[in-house]
Amino acid sequence: TPALAIRDVGMQIGGARILENIDLEVAAGEMVGVIGPNGAGKTTLFNLVSGLLRPTEGSISMNGVDITRMPVDRRARSGLGRTFQTSSLFPGLSVLENVRLAAQAKRGGSLSLFRFPRSADAATTTARGCLEQVGLQDRAGAAAGGLSHGDKRKVEIAMILATDPELILLDEPMAGVGSGDVPGLVETIRRIHLESGRTIMMVEHHMDVVLGLAERVAVMHHGTLLAVDEPETIMADPEVQAAYLGTTGKAA
Ligand code: ADP
Ligand code: MG
Ligand code: MG
Repeated sequence: TPALAIRDVGMQIGGARILENIDLEVAAGEMVGVIGPNGAGKTTLFNLVSGLLRPTEGSISMNGVDITRMPVDRRARSGLGRTFQTSSLFPGLSVLENVRLAAQAKRGGSLSLFRFPRSADAATTTARGCLEQVGLQDRAGAAAGGLSHGDKRKVEIAMILATDPELILLDEPMAGVGSGDVPGLVETIRRIHLESGRTIMMVEHHMDVVLGLAERVAVMHHGTLLAVDEPETIMADPEVQAAYLGTTGKAA
């Protein structure tokens, strides 16, 4: 049973066809990179998988369970976590508080911002463990808003880990990250993938990042899935090259 199965999915929004005939299976523990020019439909596909949108055609299942019409919060509880193209941190809260809130949300407890306990409760312990996984344990007390873009992305990944997901969707994790911070973030994602065995789908414009991390690459173009294959095969595919050269001249 695949961790994720997207079957013949189509999406129309306001009469416009955004996605058509998307078929993609992701095996448990696999990392699939999703590339394609801006406007290809990558984020829309993530919105369909995470439940922010319902497809107009087709079905989506996780571990053999049909989630096509499952509400977004139930998908999250069923083991799906995602990041967004833009940052979703509380800038005024500390790094630890941000991750702790995510851990609490998973546990279904009420959120307690104001009575932050001094003793290490379960959510705090979880949060500290997740910060260690992304290498930010030393920044636990820092204000999240003051971090570099690269460290903010790591906090967001720690927040996802705090919900203990089986399937993680990363939407452009390198977006806005300074080039000096890219290798550290790549290493963090690689470690999480290898050590936790979690299934990951990652939209990313940095081709070297995708090629270095993903076991397979899915290429989207004008709302269709052009090709899904190993990185070397994708790079050599003339149709893939044409799709890029026909639009922006490079992976953008
Ligand atoms: P990508 O993430 O690959 O850049 P998106 O999924 O964000 O692409 O968008 C795909 C296409 O769908 C774009 O042409 C975009 O303008 C359109 N689109 C996305 N969301 C909506 C919406 N809510 N209403 C209308 N059009 C949308
Ligand atoms: Mg875009
Ligand atoms: Mg996008």
